[in-house]
Amino acid sequence: LTQILKAAPVISQSLEQLKSECEKLKAQGITPSMKVILVGSNPPSVVYTRNKKIFTESFGGECEIIHLPETISKADFRQQLKLITQRDDIHGCFVQLPLPSQLQHIDVGSLIPPEIDVDGFHPNNLMKILKGTSQKALIPCTPKGILTLMEHYDIDPSGKNIVVIGRSMIVGKPMALLLTEKNATVTLCHSRTLNLEEHCQRADIIISAVGKTRFLNSKYVRHDQSQVLIDVGINVDDKGKLCGDMDFEDLLPHVKSITPVPGGVGKMTILSLAQNLLQAARNKL
Ligand code: NAD
Repeated sequence: LTQILKAAPVISQSLEQLKSECEKLKAQGITPSMKVILVGSNPPSVVYTRNKKIFTESFGGECEIIHLPETISKADFRQQLKLITQRDDIHGCFVQLPLPSQLQHIDVGSLIPPEIDVDGFHPNNLMKILKGTSQKALIPCTPKGILTLMEHYDIDPSGKNIVVIGRSMIVGKPMALLLTEKNATVTLCHSRTLNLEEHCQRADIIISAVGKTRFLNSKYVRHDQSQVLIDVGINVDDKGKLCGDMDFEDLLPHVKSITPVPGGVGKMTILSLAQNLLQAARNKL
């Protein structure tokens, strides 16, 4: 029987831990506090930021969403970011992506000071994962969440052949580095990879972060129920239904385990953000 790797049990277990860690910080006079910068009102971004706020408050942290106008100029955006991130009563800050077109080529990652960069995109934080992680590091949330999910379900990356599809800076590349650090043999595939099916068929674990509705189907896997599939994609199909990169129904009978969309990696990403916030607050002690 194929195992469905749901985030819910991981979240409920971790929530208890987050609550008790938050209590400990409060006892030392620190309330973990996060500022979320939302530019404009892209509907998915509004939902994501609201969910992040609700989750942060559920374990006792503080979270304020700072709404900036869709048409804000580059100079004003930089100025606002500077003002917000200079305050020393905050422990975490991030800019919700995507940004409107006039801001798109700004390297947001380097504008948030590394100590409060709970998204883990600052060059200093990325350099840390290039060198190998430490307990104190702020790690990009989606790859970190995938590692947490794997750990919960006893999926040990050590010695495994892992195919990561997608080479973005927020998912694919850091994921490949983190798994390498955990002794996996990683193949990083992308839009120009030849024979993607063959790479996937050879893998023990496939992680897909492509952004194409149900593109990975049963043609890409062995049919021996031995492979683990992790779906990062968040897409909407032509009927308006939320779905991943993987054709869940088609793959289900053939694989050992698979993450659902929704209810899988997306929720883990929010958990990682909370863990990074508490880590940033502890780092400041
Ligand atoms: P991106 O959109 O920046 O890039 C997509 C990647 O897919 C590229 O590296 C490209 O080379 C690769 N690609 C495109 N077509 C391909 C093909 N036919 N075969 C192989 N590779 C191909 O990537 P992203 O920002 O990492 O987002 C990817 C998906 O993950 C999106 O659906 C996004 O919404 C989702 N996402 C989910 C979470 C989460 O929390 N679950 C977080 C971040 C992104």
